[in-house]
Amino acid sequence: MKRVVIVGGGTAGWMTAAVLARLTDAGISVTLVESEEIGTVGVGEATIPSLHDYNQRLGIDEDAFVRATGATFKLGIEFVDWRRIGERYLHPFGTFGRDVQGVKFHQLWARADRDGDGVGALEDYCLTAVAARQARFTRPSRDPAAVLSSLRYAFHFDAGLYAAFLRDRATGEGVTRIEGRIGTVELAPERGDIAAVVLADGRRIAGDFFVDCSGFRSLLLGEALGVPFVSWQHWLPCDRALAVPSASTTPLLPYTRATAESAGWRWRIPLQHRVGNGHVYASAFVDDQQAADALLGGLDGAALGEPRALRFTAGVRERLWERNCVAIGLAGGFLEPLESTSIHLIQSGIARLMSLFPGEAHATVERDTYNRLLGTEYRQIRDFIILHYHATARDDSPFWQHCRTMTPPDTLAEKLALWRERGRVLPEPGELFTDDSWVAVMAGQEAPPRALDPLLDALPAEEAGRFLRHLRGVIAQTAAAMPDHAAFIARHCASASRG
Ligand SMILES: Cc1cc2nc3c(=O)[nH]c(=O)nc-3n(C[C@H](O)[C@H](O)[C@H](O)COP(=O)(O)OP(=O)(O)OC[C@H]3O[C@@H](n4cnc5c(N)ncnc54)[C@H](O)[C@@H]3O)c2cc1C
Repeated sequence: MKRVVIVGGGTAGWMTAAVLARLTDAGISVTLVESEEIGTVGVGEATIPSLHDYNQRLGIDEDAFVRATGATFKLGIEFVDWRRIGERYLHPFGTFGRDVQGVKFHQLWARADRDGDGVGALEDYCLTAVAARQARFTRPSRDPAAVLSSLRYAFHFDAGLYAAFLRDRATGEGVTRIEGRIGTVELAPERGDIAAVVLADGRRIAGDFFVDCSGFRSLLLGEALGVPFVSWQHWLPCDRALAVPSASTTPLLPYTRATAESAGWRWRIPLQHRVGNGHVYASAFVDDQQAADALLGGLDGAALGEPRALRFTAGVRERLWERNCVAIGLAGGFLEPLESTSIHLIQSGIARLMSLFPGEAHATVERDTYNRLLGTEYRQIRDFIILHYHATARDDSPFWQHCRTMTPPDTLAEKLALWRERGRVLPEPGELFTDDSWVAVMAGQEAPPRALDPLLDALPAEEAGRFLRHLRGVIAQTAAAMPDHAAFIARHCASASRG
């Protein structure tokens, strides 16, 4: 193993290159091929908190990263009109309250709410949600006893600036960048491994191991090695998107907004220098013109260009590692952007590739473990995203009727049954979305459960009421003491292009 070749210089390619740069210390060359003529997908601007792991791994200074990418802080996602038109809820990144004697906090809250104890909304018990509603931000406390330690955050950033930021790092650390369009992929005659990629101008780039970051086209894994694509479109029918930036508005919200439409949803992602907007929709249920009208009609600032069209199918390649090639990013799969999980899946692929880095081209044990772990993660995230579409009371359009009445995957059906029975959530061990995320979306979109946890009977309602009031007060006070999101950025990490 002497030569690693990364094909593609989008977010996936450069995130991979920045980490694989370390291999150069072990005498392995790392080369990245990208084509300006083809360009990148150019979207992918909202993240989840796991990005901290990636940044830490690379020792990235957070303020420098926020400045360089025009980033803002993201405390969660607001879902508007998902359960019913006119209803909204937050899926915050932080935790809800505190469990008591083995009873989940949301159960305690649900009992008090059911009994009319005037305990307010569930989100009042999550500092991250309260801060989001008030457009406040500060970094969490390191003291686990402080309520401020429960705050969790991610980022919204400019995808183009992010790729450039990582490219500078990776090339500074020994990654070789080659610009050019790949015309053919050369397979080794006997083994069928990838031997080289050949550019349109005839240059040949040989390698021992290849990382396919070529985007939706999946040039190596899909086209050259023929690994089939497994479509999940029957559960996730959205297959098109239109994206357009718009002028910034105030206040600078520290969260993404996802507004349900008649056949899909619109995103709103605030950056320092603009707002990213998009409309993800199902072409079987709405035409492109109607989708464009809904996007442009929903903007809250002036459009800064014409909408750009993207097409995709939700799903994943049957195997993400085949022979001497791993696909990372859109070349491997795409689950639609509703919970901003694609960049996380890129990171997860990179982290696992590094943990299982092969000593030779045919590393079957490592390959099988990689495929199992990544396959499971895709499936778990898929279920969480389907939940948003399926757990709805909307019946105002054929799209929502389809989503509401479809048969969900068995794994999701079990989770829904547990919630509907006694409001329980039990993610599988190691699942990306933890209890709090499942509670946020189930509580936001499902009807109240039939009954609650019987262990609640061990907790007297009066005492629980006092605890709830105290907690709500402390969270409100802590949020009130936090600075305004825009003021925090102006003070610590304003980008040069801001304004
Ligand atoms: C509508 C939409 C919204 C999204 N929103 C989010 C979000 O909010 N959060 C999130 O985490 N993710 C989001 N994603 C996903 C995110 O955009 C991608 O995961 C991310 O940008 C990585 O893309 P990529 O690098 O795999 O592919 P691309 O950006 O498409 O890069 C492919 C690279 O391969 C190169 N290439 C291709 N063919 C050749 C060739 N023949 N020769 C040479 N080079 C070649 C291209 O030039 C390019 O450099 C979204 C995706 C879509 C479609």
